[in-house]
Amino acid sequence: MANSSPTSFPIMEHFYTIQGEGRNAGKASYFFRIGGCDVGCPWCDVKESWDDGHPKMTIQEIINCASEAEAKNIVITGGEPCMYDLSELTSKLKSAGFNLWIETSGAYEITGDWDWIVVSPKRRKSCLPSSLKKASELKVVVLRTMDFDWAVEHAKSVSSECALYFQPEWSREEEMLPEVINFVKGNPDWQISLQTHKYMQIP
Ligand code: SF4
Repeated sequence: MANSSPTSFPIMEHFYTIQGEGRNAGKASYFFRIGGCDVGCPWCDVKESWDDGHPKMTIQEIINCASEAEAKNIVITGGEPCMYDLSELTSKLKSAGFNLWIETSGAYEITGDWDWIVVSPKRRKSCLPSSLKKASELKVVVLRTMDFDWAVEHAKSVSSECALYFQPEWSREEEMLPEVINFVKGNPDWQISLQTHKYMQIP
């Protein structure tokens, strides 16, 4: 934990767009990407987010940006946002009336009050059992066939309401998508998530 309930965060980038992935795909969402991540996925497509030295934004500045865009949904992502205590952030954003979604590897304790929690476990740093219990959505990025068994192991620790998704890793999509389709046909508790924002060529 970096410190307790910070009131400002290093924001690598922020933008109003369409959520491309998972259960909320297709919904307009204001993304805030908090800098800082020590997970180190080799295929990470936002390595600039590993640095926690990005310019800080206060919670009020975050609210102002999303309000000016007339956004209803806010996505807090990273980096690994759960390296920070997010209690104060979610408390203020909730009071301002936003729906709050978070995307995390689950490697750190999930703090704050969220409407939708996406846990996407990574091999480089184990997912906490407490994170899996809190997950609204378990999203496993598939790079190779062995990831299916690994995903099923994680799914044993989520709640019965948790939505289960496989998402082919973008650079491996052509190769892995047929395998994901086959797996989901044989295991209908799972669904497919595609990075539709990349098809739409939006951030
Ligand atoms: Fe990148 Fe996310 Fe992995 Fe961190 S957890 S290295 S931000 S993919």
